[in-house]
Amino acid sequence: MTRIAAIVERAIGLDGGPANAVVNFSGHTVSLVAVITDVIRDGRPMTGVAFDSIGRFAQSGILRDRMIPRVLAADPAALLDAAGRIDPAAVSACALRDEKPGGHGDRAAAAGALELACWDLNAKLNDEPAYLTIARYFGREPAHVVAVYAAGGYYHPAGDRDRLRTEMRGYLDLGYDAVKMKIGGAPLPEDLARIEAVIDIVGDGGRVAVDANGRFDRAEATRWAAALSPYGLRWYEEPGDPLDYELNRAVTAGYDGAVATGENLFSVPDVTNLVRYGGMRPGRDVFQMDPGLSYGLCEYARMLDVLEAHGFERRFAFPHGGHLINLHVVAGLGLGGCESYPGVFAPFGGYGDACAVTEGRIAPTDAPGFGLEQKAGLAEPIAELVADLTA
Ligand code: MG
Repeated sequence: MTRIAAIVERAIGLDGGPANAVVNFSGHTVSLVAVITDVIRDGRPMTGVAFDSIGRFAQSGILRDRMIPRVLAADPAALLDAAGRIDPAAVSACALRDEKPGGHGDRAAAAGALELACWDLNAKLNDEPAYLTIARYFGREPAHVVAVYAAGGYYHPAGDRDRLRTEMRGYLDLGYDAVKMKIGGAPLPEDLARIEAVIDIVGDGGRVAVDANGRFDRAEATRWAAALSPYGLRWYEEPGDPLDYELNRAVTAGYDGAVATGENLFSVPDVTNLVRYGGMRPGRDVFQMDPGLSYGLCEYARMLDVLEAHGFERRFAFPHGGHLINLHVVAGLGLGGCESYPGVFAPFGGYGDACAVTEGRIAPTDAPGFGLEQKAGLAEPIAELVADLTA
């Protein structure tokens, strides 16, 4: 029987400070969480590690004051599956005890980090990469290689256009064949010139996605849709507020290209409302929910069930986040592909050096768990996080 001996969390800052149309990331943080057990291997306690994705800040207070005490106070047997392993769903349910439904905000990210650390732990106990553990649990055939695209194209104060070209050329040199860039942070004519510059480098609008990060009201969102239409872009992401389903429906009603959204929906009911009222079109539009922001992998798998029950296919799911955890989620659950941040959001964004990108595809390594300890810049904070408790 596995017991949780301790749970620790630390807020880690992001390197660099890119900006999209709405948010400057220079002050952003991420919650790095370790679940430490009483199972000893090679003289060290088995420990699961994860984080709450990127873009919603560290959730130290919620974890420290509410969730971690609840889990540590629980009957250890109540946190186990039938095989005596830590059950991520049981840990999540315990962490959320006495929390009202609805209002899915920062606590969804706090719970996500904690729940995902349990998946890392279980994969390490199985001595296998996490995507194999995930695939087995959810009855899927694991994909050993998955599609990946490079997300970037942020706004920088000076020399924006030349810098953008250089950045995108760099992604192609790294082995990516599709990219994403930000829009909505400049006037429409200027952004169209930015888009044309990127298409010029990448060679095909169908390999360029654009992301407005929820910037536009309904009139602007549809006006931009009309202006984007001739480019045949890969997708038009988050035109307006992520919870304004009517706005999303107005965009999809008048735009032939794909629309992508969902990275700021944190629950099954929110995703259900998106497919009921958001005008999303099966076989075309893209869903970007992110387990680390939305209560973890079990909730995310239920979101996929909702999509499939409404006629959508999971190959149109591309989780937001651009990091190793979601690479394993995509490979384990048979999703369309994953995002990568090769140049930004270090140490969390992008993949380890051992995960080479070839012709727009990437493979997880054989490292047990999510392999976070293999990633440069991330291994050190993980070691510091667990050092005091495992010494
Ligand atoms: Mg986005």
